[in-house]
Amino acid sequence: MADIAFIGLGNMGGPMARNLVQAGHGVVGFDVAPAALQAATANGVEPAASAAEAAGRAPIVITMLPAGAQVREVHTGAGGVIAAAGEGALLIDCSTIDVASARAVHAAAAEAGHEMLDAPVSGGVAGADAATLTFMAGGSEAAFARAKPVLAAMGRTIVHAGAPGNGQAAKVCNNMILGISMIAVAEAFTLGERLGLEPKTFFDIASKASASCWAMLNHLPVPGIVETSAANRDFKPGFSAAMMVKDMGLSQEAAGLAGAATPLGAAATALYAQFVEAGHGELDYSAIIKLIREA
Ligand code: NAD
Repeated sequence: MADIAFIGLGNMGGPMARNLVQAGHGVVGFDVAPAALQAATANGVEPAASAAEAAGRAPIVITMLPAGAQVREVHTGAGGVIAAAGEGALLIDCSTIDVASARAVHAAAAEAGHEMLDAPVSGGVAGADAATLTFMAGGSEAAFARAKPVLAAMGRTIVHAGAPGNGQAAKVCNNMILGISMIAVAEAFTLGERLGLEPKTFFDIASKASASCWAMLNHLPVPGIVETSAANRDFKPGFSAAMMVKDMGLSQEAAGLAGAATPLGAAATALYAQFVEAGHGELDYSAIIKLIREA
């Protein structure tokens, strides 16, 4: 028996599983991509032949999968995690998915007698690598208390956001703010340049004034001013524009279901989608400034 099963060993899951091993946990893993499983094995993860086999070998099962469809399939599909996990297992889904899928999987887990948390992350591949992720978790107090020491091996900030699905709700709302605010920064820096302001001078003013925000301070879309900006590296991500389209789309899906008006969210979603459709999905999301400049 291992301590933890880890399913989905990609760009995020790979380093997260490695950090669990380094913290002293026995980790059994599975990924449909043989290369991902092989890389995890080299980091001390025991390979399993299927998600069900991995889930049957540990009391805690973590998933880090692309989207809601895969999370539903891996949990509730034939030979899925919920059927294979032992009695009273704790299931922690760290993927970023739609709130409705998260709540459906929670309900299926509860029916089978398992505890579950949706615990999406912020911090990207660098945060996964350095074990500095932020986890926002939805589920019961008991599930949160049980998960917290495990999540602490992969992250620095672990917040209980409330009921099932609320971790995903916090994640989409957070990323909608990030997506909108990056476009605001890109528009203002473009306008400033056209008005004859030096970007560095404007940054020194705006970053200390009422316009200051996380996107500006950390991911300024103009090179040579903020060390952590992808703009310094020809917009190599970072957090890709394609990922931003995914997360903005989730915010719009959630807004539709909840009956919440998000006019700026909708406009920002359309701009990122246009940028990705023009073939720039692999650039950092802050490269949206190119679209603003060319408009
Ligand atoms: P990724 O594509 O690198 O990894 C996903 C892994 O899941 C792949 O290795 C894939 O083979 C595997 N997989 C797919 N279907 C499977 C199945 N049925 N069974 C087992 N394995 C399966 O993606 P990623 O960048 O690691 O992202 C994972 C999740 O984390 C996504 O939901 C993403 O939105 C979220 N996220 C990513 C970042 C980031 O910067 N990359 C940041 C925050 C959140």
